[in-house]
Amino acid sequence: MKATDLLDKERAKYYRKEYAISFSILFLVMLVIVLAILLYIANGENAPAKQKYAEATETISEQQSQIGDLKTQISDLQSQLDAEKAAYNELSNEKSSVEDLTQQAYEEGWQDACWENGIEPDTDDIGGYDYTAHLDDGEDPESPTAYITPSGKRYHLSQSCAGENAIQTTIADASDKGYTPCAKCAQ
Ligand SMILES: [Zn+2]
Repeated sequence: MKATDLLDKERAKYYRKEYAISFSILFLVMLVIVLAILLYIANGENAPAKQKYAEATETISEQQSQIGDLKTQISDLQSQLDAEKAAYNELSNEKSSVEDLTQQAYEEGWQDACWENGIEPDTDDIGGYDYTAHLDDGEDPESPTAYITPSGKRYHLSQSCAGENAIQTTIADASDKGYTPCAKCAQ
């Protein structure tokens, strides 16, 4: 074999090898690109799930904060209730002592009346003061005194303003009967 033939043969071998390496690199690069594209697509498909997860997380944190608010409201209401209970207990105690004092005054009045009439007071007869008999007395005991006249349409707070025919009543009663306040003394 001639030296030139040998050289050509070696050259051709070299080119084939180089061609094979280039092709391998190209193939690897394309493989990487394809993998990257697949990864991108997979990630894109996961996007709705990721968004749902983020939304769910947000909803949960909102609801947790709502629960926190409600707990605060409950604890506020609880302390209001405690305060109301305390006030109620205080009023109950006051009512009891008023009832005790009323009963005491009632018994004393009974005994005084007995002594005045020359009767020996028998404590068994005194009994208890009947509170229920005084609960529905009709007229509102807190309604202030007012004066009306049979011919007038106004009620007065001043008896002199009502005049000679003044009849004593209460504002509540006068209002119920259709009387309206006098511009001079009842405004
Ligand atoms: Zn008047």
